[in-house]
Amino acid sequence: MVQQNILIIGAGIAGLNTALALASPGRTLTLIERDPPPPEASAEAAFDVWERRGVGHLRHSHAFLARLYLLLRDKYPDLLGELLEAGCRELKFEDGVPATLREEYQAIPEDNDLTILTSRRTTLEFVMRRYVSKLPSVQIVPNARVKGLLHERTEDGTLNVTGATIERDGQAEDIKANLVVDAGGKNALGFDWLKAEGVQIRTEVENAGILYFTRHYRLKDGQEEPPKGKLPAGADLGYVKYGLFPADNRCFSITLAVPDIEMELRSKIVRPEVFDAICRALPALEPWIEETRVDPTSRVFGMGELKSQWRHMVEDGKPVVLNYYPLGDNLIRSNPLYGRGCSFAAVAAHALAEALETKQGSVAQALHYYKTVTREIRPYYDSMRKLDQAAIKRAARELDPTYTPGIKAKVLKSFINDAITIAMRSDIGLLREAMHGFHMLSHPDAWLKKPRNFFKVMWIWARGKKRNQAYYTPRLGPKRHEMFALLNLSPTVDWERHKEAA
Ligand SMILES: Cc1cc2nc3c(=O)[nH]c(=O)nc-3n(C[C@H](O)[C@H](O)[C@H](O)COP(=O)(O)OP(=O)(O)OC[C@H]3O[C@@H](n4cnc5c(N)ncnc54)[C@H](O)[C@@H]3O)c2cc1C
Repeated sequence: MVQQNILIIGAGIAGLNTALALASPGRTLTLIERDPPPPEASAEAAFDVWERRGVGHLRHSHAFLARLYLLLRDKYPDLLGELLEAGCRELKFEDGVPATLREEYQAIPEDNDLTILTSRRTTLEFVMRRYVSKLPSVQIVPNARVKGLLHERTEDGTLNVTGATIERDGQAEDIKANLVVDAGGKNALGFDWLKAEGVQIRTEVENAGILYFTRHYRLKDGQEEPPKGKLPAGADLGYVKYGLFPADNRCFSITLAVPDIEMELRSKIVRPEVFDAICRALPALEPWIEETRVDPTSRVFGMGELKSQWRHMVEDGKPVVLNYYPLGDNLIRSNPLYGRGCSFAAVAAHALAEALETKQGSVAQALHYYKTVTREIRPYYDSMRKLDQAAIKRAARELDPTYTPGIKAKVLKSFINDAITIAMRSDIGLLREAMHGFHMLSHPDAWLKKPRNFFKVMWIWARGKKRNQAYYTPRLGPKRHEMFALLNLSPTVDWERHKEAA
């Protein structure tokens, strides 16, 4: 059998998923990773000391949606077993059923598919990497950096990638490969190298409109997580979005996302005392960070420059480059709020495996790969962008002293708050179907496009606030001016500066 050599740039989530998907007796896979390997001792040590300059978001909250969870469960059950053994948790559909439906909820077998896998990202990566490095014909080379691509031109002038130059211990080395997968993440340099060779890649980029702030905590000995309350574990208050992420080994993290335009809040929130004060003021989080219950285990990690980005690798029906496959954040970036990046990477990795297995020749393989990726990921990407744009406008309008909503804006707001949200809190069937879309198991809008569901939602809306009263959440937290007063922040904004965003 002719052995196929595949070089993978990066051993992050996309690189590891690529190795899982492509590992087979006919292939040798080499993952080149600029960062050092994880400490061998344990997942605990990985969280404490693993230095990963290549992944700035390593210590931000992470969860794998059902699309990725099911892939692990059905294709790599032993890996899922190792993840669970290391303490990663399965958050079942049942765990997310709102208080308003808890009593009447009856499980059905399909609910098992709507499971989120969650833990500290260091634990997920530590276990996945340990598993991948034991696969036959897979080698992970740490502390080595890919510095450029080797290439030649086909007869029609298309760039054909034939390997990469790596640097290790100060020495440069050329590695030939049948194909190169660039899983170098959001700061990958592959597209710069291609540009220098005259390969133009059309790129869509949009600002996600938020900054991310995460802090980790651990339950004290003898303490347990607070009982489930009436409030959701994640919600949007306009000036801040919050999310609670249960994790492995009695740990959890809290992420607060702040709109770009909240300049003062975003500069102060990195202070642990400010971060914790916000959490204490939010009734859903307050019991989680009681001083008698938990100890913080990290500082507040902040992250900006969050973007949605889509690269177009096919023009006029032809791949723009051959045998070079961007994958993961290097190909498609998404707002972390939706928790889809790792699932996107896993879906793309398996699309690549399918292309290599079912198509002959690099052109047909590339076309198949991009077609599958577009079919499987684009609907979620588009839906996310639409929601982001709406959230950016909403955050800006909230600060605009001159803004008075028109009839269209009022109706839309009411449709979201009084129809969709209430439908999710009052009808388990609708919740199930919407969750399928959220988890990337069906088109994100499919549930609402079904006439039966649409009429149900409209009927719930038409019932009116009074009759739906029981399904509204109790107050999620202080209003903006109340929170700012509590934190001693000035609620005024330099509105002129932000007009454009509005
Ligand atoms: C704040 C935040 C929170 C997120 N939360 C979630 C979530 O809850 N769920 C979810 O599914 N997704 C989440 N995401 C998205 C998810 O983290 C990314 O989609 C995912 O990390 C992409 O994997 P990747 O392998 O492409 O990139 P990375 O994981 O960043 O890995 C890239 C790797 O390539 C290496 N590398 C880069 N260049 C070179 C080179 N030249 N030579 C050698 N090595 C190189 C880097 O060192 C790194 O190890 C989040 C993202 C952010 C920013």
